[in-house]
Amino acid sequence: MTTSARERKPDWLRIKLTTGEPYREIKDMMRTKTLHTVCEEARCPNIYECWANRTATFMILGDICTRACRFCAVKTGLPTELDLQEPERVAEAAEQMNLRHCVVTSVARDDLQDGGASIFAATIAAVRKKLPLCSVEVLIPDFMGKKESLQIVMDAKPDILNHNIETVERLSDRVRAKAKYKRSLELLQRAKEMYPDIPTKSSIMLGVGERTEEILQAMDDLRAVDCNILTLGQYLQPSPAHLEVARYVHPDEFASLKEEGLKRGFSHVESGPFVRSSYHAHEQVKSAEARTTSVREESRV
Ligand code: SF4
Repeated sequence: MTTSARERKPDWLRIKLTTGEPYREIKDMMRTKTLHTVCEEARCPNIYECWANRTATFMILGDICTRACRFCAVKTGLPTELDLQEPERVAEAAEQMNLRHCVVTSVARDDLQDGGASIFAATIAAVRKKLPLCSVEVLIPDFMGKKESLQIVMDAKPDILNHNIETVERLSDRVRAKAKYKRSLELLQRAKEMYPDIPTKSSIMLGVGERTEEILQAMDDLRAVDCNILTLGQYLQPSPAHLEVARYVHPDEFASLKEEGLKRGFSHVESGPFVRSSYHAHEQVKSAEARTTSVREESRV
């Protein structure tokens, strides 16, 4: 079922590079508007496919993260900027790309009082104003567990609230800097308590040393806080300085974990070697649509 990480990458992890017209167009637009995408900053393997399909995940609040997670390629340091015009430019870019589903994430901004929550809220509002039919998914940091920051984001009523636990409980402290497994679960639980109709979503990377029973336990933990959507993907080492891949998980194992997730009651499970938190995100909206329609209507009155 698995392949040792010391061996070369298995065939199922080979990517076809297609840098066509939409790819170049999006790259140029992001530079012109001085916007960042997690697709580029995290060196996502799906960038050619997603950009060719005019899908991208905006990364707001700059491109310098105050944390240094061992799996992540985003730059680390002390950010200096807070760009209040950024929400408007994200909305303009979303309009230019004619998005039907817009995913917005950010670096961790532990230097800011609200962790950047108000910029998330402004971005949701700006996209809604320009594209009333576009659903907005936010993939948020843990805001150091600050309930008030989460409340600011939830009050903007995103169509999907996404927060990643990233890995199983035992490996959490080793893989993620500062973030805590229990705090992430608590965030997802609070989001549900604040707005029970807004679907929540989380993601686990596989191949960092977790055991199957630990993955199943993480799924149970997520369902215990009524998390609705789950994504499972293969961890890939962004550079030799990052955490090593412990194993390559076979596509059959991803398929059987998807079944386990669905059995546990997730409304949608996206599971496969190249799955990332935002991969095929527009397709997950359908699963959550019935829940969100009423929330969206409410937020526009
Ligand atoms: S999976 Fe997400 S981060 Fe990766 S290229 Fe696609 S939209 Fe960007």
